[in-house]
Amino acid sequence: MPVQDLQVQRRNMNGNRGMLTVLHRIPSRDRLAMSSVADTADRRPLRLFFIPYFASSHLIPLVDIARFLAARGVDSTILATPCNAALVRATVDAAAAAGLRIQLLEYPFPSAESGLPPGVENLSALPPSECDKIDYAIAFTRPTLEHLLGLHHPDAVVADGHFPWTIDIARKLGIPRIKFTALGTLSFCVFHSVLANQPFKDVTRDDERVPIPDLPHPLLLARSELPDFLVQDTVFGRLMEEVREADKASLGIIINSCTEIEGIYLDYFHRMLSIKKTWLVGPISLNDSESSSVGVRGGGLNPAAVGNRARCLSWLSEQKPSSVVYACFGSWSQFTGEQLREIALGLEASGHPFLWVLREADGAEWMPHGFEQRVKWRGLVLRGWVPQVELLSHAAVGAFVTHCGWNSFQEGVSSGLPMVTWPIGTDQFIIEKLVVERFRVGVKASDSIRSTTDPNRTIVRAAELARAIGSIMDAGVAAEGTRRRARELAEKARAAVEKGGSSDKALNDLIEDIYVWHDNKRSAAGMAVDI
Ligand code: UDP
Repeated sequence: MPVQDLQVQRRNMNGNRGMLTVLHRIPSRDRLAMSSVADTADRRPLRLFFIPYFASSHLIPLVDIARFLAARGVDSTILATPCNAALVRATVDAAAAAGLRIQLLEYPFPSAESGLPPGVENLSALPPSECDKIDYAIAFTRPTLEHLLGLHHPDAVVADGHFPWTIDIARKLGIPRIKFTALGTLSFCVFHSVLANQPFKDVTRDDERVPIPDLPHPLLLARSELPDFLVQDTVFGRLMEEVREADKASLGIIINSCTEIEGIYLDYFHRMLSIKKTWLVGPISLNDSESSSVGVRGGGLNPAAVGNRARCLSWLSEQKPSSVVYACFGSWSQFTGEQLREIALGLEASGHPFLWVLREADGAEWMPHGFEQRVKWRGLVLRGWVPQVELLSHAAVGAFVTHCGWNSFQEGVSSGLPMVTWPIGTDQFIIEKLVVERFRVGVKASDSIRSTTDPNRTIVRAAELARAIGSIMDAGVAAEGTRRRARELAEKARAAVEKGGSSDKALNDLIEDIYVWHDNKRSAAGMAVDI
C-alpha cells in the first residue's frame, strides 16, 4: 500500500479499522512508582518501538518484554497488524490500565501484495506447508514500517529477527536496532556450527546422527532433525545472510532464556557469531505478577479461548494434585489423522488423567471408535487456544507433553514439571536435547529418528507415548529423579527473574545500554545531553 495513504484513524464504534489505528494513547504521567533505570539516572523515559513477527510464539514474548520494560519506565509501542494486535490487546490494555506507558499501533497487513486472503496474518492461520507465505509477506511491510518509524522517531527499535532490514531504517534514523529472537542460544550456536563446519557434508543418510562441532557439550543430530531453512530452499533461509549481518550490526540480541539455563553457550555465541551484546531476560512467562494477563495471554478475548480457559480450570479443579498429563504442541503445529489417533490411544493407554489441546484445523475423523466415551471421566480434549502458562502452574498438572517449542520449553522448565518431548519441526529437536540430555528433566516420546520436513514423518505409536508418560508419572527411582531435577531447574529459573537475579539485571542493563548508546552518540557529535 502506498505510504502516502497511511493516516492515523481511531477505531470507530463498530470496530471497523482505519488504515492505521492507535489503540491506546497513554496520558503522560509522572514517573511510575516502580523500579526504573530512568528514575535513578534522572533521564527522560526511553521511547521504544517493538516489531513482532506474525506468529504467536514471537508475538507473545515480545509483548511481554515491552510490558516489563514499560514497568521500568520505558514508553513502549508495539507495531502490529490488526489480527495480531487482537491477540495481545487484552494484555496491553491491562498493562495500560495499570498505569504503564504501553500502546499498540496497528498497521495493515500486506494481504493484497503477498497474495494471502484478508484475515490471514499469523502462522497459526495457515497449514505448515504454506507458512512460507507469511515470511514472503514481510518484505511488503517495509515501506509502512519505515514510514511509521520515521514519523515517530523512537529512541530504539526492537525488531524480530525476521525483519533484518530494520537495521537500515535504524541507521537512517540514527537510532540503535535491537534484535529480538524467539530462538534459544543453543539453537543459534547449532545453526552457526552446522553452516560453518558442514558436519553433514560426507553423510549420505538423512537419519544418521553426527556430532555438532565446537559446542560446550557433545550433541548429536541427524540432518533430518535440522530446521527446514537449513536443509531446504525457504524464504527465511534465503534471508539468512542478511539476518546475520543485521545481527552483527545491532546493539545486541534479546533472548527468552537465562544464564542459569544457557549461560554456557554465550562464549560460543559472542565469539563465533560476532554479536555485540546479549540480554537473557527469561523465562519471560515467569517474570509476571499480573495473573490476570497470564489468563488471556496470547488468546485475546476470543470467546472460544475464554470458554476453553473456564472449562480447563473447572475440570482441573476436580483432579487430584499432580495427576494430570497436559499435552499441547504449540500454536501452529499440525499432525496427520493417523498421528492424532495414536496420540489419543497413547494418552488413553497411559492410564493417567489428561488434558489435550488440539488445533482447530485438526478435524475429528481420526478419533478412535468409542474414545470420547471411554475417557470421558479422565480426559479433556479441547480445540483452539488454552492459557498454557496458567495451566502449567495448576496444582493438578503433573507432566507436560510438549513439542519443544522454545517458549513451551521455557514454560515447562518454569513450571517444574517433568516433560515428554515430541519435537516436530524448526529447532525443536535441538531443544529436546536440553530436556532429555543436558538437564534430564524429561524423556522422549520416541527413540526413532524423525524429520522436521517430511510430511509423512515417522509415526510415533500409542505404546511409545504411553510408556514415556509412565516413565515420568509412575512410581520409581528414575521417575522421581526426573521430577526432582525438574523442580530444581525451576528454582534456578525463578531465581533468575527475581529482583537482583540475572534476567532482572539484564532488563535493567538493556535500558542502560540504550541510554549509553545515545550518550556516546551525543558525545561523539559534541552535542548537549537531552535524554
Ligand atoms: N500457547 C498457549 N495456548 C495454546 C497454544 C500455545 O498459550 O493453546 C502458547 C504457549 O504458552 C507458548 C506459545 O503459545 O508461549 C507457543 O510457542 P512455542 O515456541 O512453544 O511453539 P510454536 O507455537 O512456535 O510452535
